Amino acid sequence: MRRRFLGDRTAADTPLPLRRQRPRRRFYVPPPMRATRRAPAPIAVQPLGAIAATQLSFLEEVLWSLLGARATVLPALEIPPSCWVAARRQYDADQLLDLVFSRMPLHALRMIGVLNADMFAQGRTFVFGYAHLRDGIGLYSLARLEETYYRRPASDPLLRGRVFRAVAHELGHTFGNPHCDVPHCVMRAVSHIESLDALAPSYCPTCLRRVRRGLVVGPSSAEGLFSRAGALLRRHMPERAAVLYREATQQAPLEPRYHNDLGVALLSLADRTRARVAFLRAAELAGQFPHPYYNLGILYREETGGAEAAEACFREGLARDPDPIAGHRYIAKLYDELFGDALRARHHYRTYIELGGSEVEVVERARALGACH
Ligand SMILES: [Zn+2]
Ligand SMILES: [Zn+2]
Repeated sequence: MRRRFLGDRTAADTPLPLRRQRPRRRFYVPPPMRATRRAPAPIAVQPLGAIAATQLSFLEEVLWSLLGARATVLPALEIPPSCWVAARRQYDADQLLDLVFSRMPLHALRMIGVLNADMFAQGRTFVFGYAHLRDGIGLYSLARLEETYYRRPASDPLLRGRVFRAVAHELGHTFGNPHCDVPHCVMRAVSHIESLDALAPSYCPTCLRRVRRGLVVGPSSAEGLFSRAGALLRRHMPERAAVLYREATQQAPLEPRYHNDLGVALLSLADRTRARVAFLRAAELAGQFPHPYYNLGILYREETGGAEAAEACFREGLARDPDPIAGHRYIAKLYDELFGDALRARHHYRTYIELGGSEVEVVERARALGACH
């Protein structure tokens, strides 16, 4: 009988090729950077265009040494012409990141794309690499890491050092690390090849802590499903997001954030009934978590005659909001911009100012509505 596989083949189906065994370490990794335990899932590697096999196997070594993660190297993908910006003769890194995300396997802890061509990001003439802080994806380009780009003789040691730094830096972003000001931390912002070479090949203690904390969250754990669902929702795929949020709530039924965000996904799918159930469940579990009350308020407000019920929900949320100034600003803007209710908007703008809120744009809007004394 022919077997059909719905997912990865199991170890019993295929003996692991030798290459998949722990890669031999051919380069120096500073001891504090070496992975201390095995990552809970592989990191997917997406070659964008043709990438030399030696480059891919070096990347596998880096992922193993740095994160204790196996690599799942996906088949190379031709970059669609829509990612190319002819006027700049460069690829658009944001589009490439979307492309990488669209290929991300569910079982992957993170995903990194690699290409051989120059790319840019908004506001930058070029970037060596690019990553998303929350969606688990990054990419880097070999183009400007090669000495030959600067019309100098090729150098393997230099190239390897740069790839290591670029990968550590971009994956560091995917663990929630923004750019770091600590001298020599590999998460420092880099603007040219000399500043990349000048980086220490290591994270500072704070950045390392974030990486290690993220490394224990497997993609099929409740928290892993929750964060992948968030990425799907941010990328306008509410249907797939709702499936993962639902799974997260089944694994961890007492976590209000999972129910709340499930409600948000359901609302994007126009399933108001189920969204309400999810928000109510989240509110029940909420403790000091205001979001489900705000979301219920929006739901009620959108129904005829629901204005009072909505305001009551907003008040419940505000009472739980650890940052009431931001809470009143949020509610005031909802009334002002979404519901066109100047009276209630004025009330919340006024409270925002009374509590010490002073953002110029908000205060100006409040004044325009007559909310200032
Ligand atoms: Zn960066
Ligand atoms: Zn740092």
